Amino acid sequence: MLSTFILQPSSSDKRRAYSRAMIAPKTPPFPSLDDFKAQLKIIRNAAVANLDSLVMRLSETLSGLPNVELVMANDEQQALKAISQACGPTKTIAINQSSVIKHELSSGLRQNGFRVIDSYSGEFSHFEDRFVNYSQLPEMPESQLLPNFSASNLAHLRSSSIECNGVKDFVGLLGVNAISSREGTVFFMEHFCNISKVFQQARKLILLITPEKIVPGNEEARLQTLAMGIFGWEVRLLGLGNKGGDNQLQDIPFTASSNADPNVLVIVMDNGRRRLKDGPYRDLLLCIGCRACMRSCPTQQFFGVNSGLNPKEYLYYFIQGRSSSLDFCLNCGMCHVECPLDIDVSGMIIKARSQCPQKRSLASTLLVNFELLSKWGSTMPGAANALLGNRVPRGFADRVLGISKDAPAPKFRKDTLERWLRRKRSR
Ligand code: SF4
Ligand code: SF4
Repeated sequence: MLSTFILQPSSSDKRRAYSRAMIAPKTPPFPSLDDFKAQLKIIRNAAVANLDSLVMRLSETLSGLPNVELVMANDEQQALKAISQACGPTKTIAINQSSVIKHELSSGLRQNGFRVIDSYSGEFSHFEDRFVNYSQLPEMPESQLLPNFSASNLAHLRSSSIECNGVKDFVGLLGVNAISSREGTVFFMEHFCNISKVFQQARKLILLITPEKIVPGNEEARLQTLAMGIFGWEVRLLGLGNKGGDNQLQDIPFTASSNADPNVLVIVMDNGRRRLKDGPYRDLLLCIGCRACMRSCPTQQFFGVNSGLNPKEYLYYFIQGRSSSLDFCLNCGMCHVECPLDIDVSGMIIKARSQCPQKRSLASTLLVNFELLSKWGSTMPGAANALLGNRVPRGFADRVLGISKDAPAPKFRKDTLERWLRRKRSR
């Protein structure tokens, strides 16, 4: 079977690392978080630069593995067709927190008559698991963060679980965090136990990969997955973008182990990603999906019908034509500051807005391009602030542009919020 590993926060590993840090605080045996970020950037940039060759290499590797079926899907329709065929008579599908599955496939699956269970939401109510145990341990120095995740071999866990318990009548559809093109090894990051449960109990498994998640070897795939856990940790703890729910997998009974399908279907779904590679939004492909950019975004909760979108997804689905507006972004730049890969989502949102053919009033055109206004205002902040505080120009703006003279006006400064935040953090 496909070699598959899951990385999980481990309280015992954290205890060990903590003891090491107490005994020898001056000799951290692991790279600093900054070194780790630098390494991650190299991996991600290489993955995007070699996207096509990595897809080809992975396809060759998977085609040579037993019990693996491979489908290359150009778009979601092709992926949905492959999923429907693979499910056969089973009409229940359990998914993980993969935003690709949630935002690009789940509504199509429901339209095709499937019951879709979000396995992660079901786990959220069981808070006394490793998540809390791990979090209750003292905060680690940055240099000790890396070894706090343990790895388990999911393929072994699946075969022994099937032998003991049998399987349940559902199909597990799981979005993969990283896969190595050379070995075809799959990596997941898990904060609860939902992915392990799906992997062990599903009658049939389908793994979904998007091209940018493919990296050359196992070590790159492991590091990329580890980064998901490290930088997305607080977001998980805060439950951002998570709506809770029942643990519906619990209600499905086990059936005979002979019902288990030994074949794993792997779908590599592009759905418009590769065309970003040579354009102004290339950096979106660097994203590992950690959701750290969600943490400080002041308006993320208003990001539209697809609730739970992070800033990168908010932009990405606008570019893909799945949503019609970017108006909830304030361009505060916090997502850029938080991103371990330095992806300037805020800057790309400004670009996307200015290229958007949407008809706007003069006032809203000025307001959505307030990056430009801010630049003008910040060149002479004293004069700009005096102008905004004067009732004559404000009365003119009220009549001509429709910007109320009573609305509070921003104060212009020489420094930018982003620069100020970075300085504050480095201190
Ligand atoms: S720039 Fe926009 S998307 Fe990014 S944190 Fe600020 S409001 Fe959110
Ligand atoms: S854009 Fe957001 S989700 Fe993507 S890597 Fe940066 S912080 Fe993580």
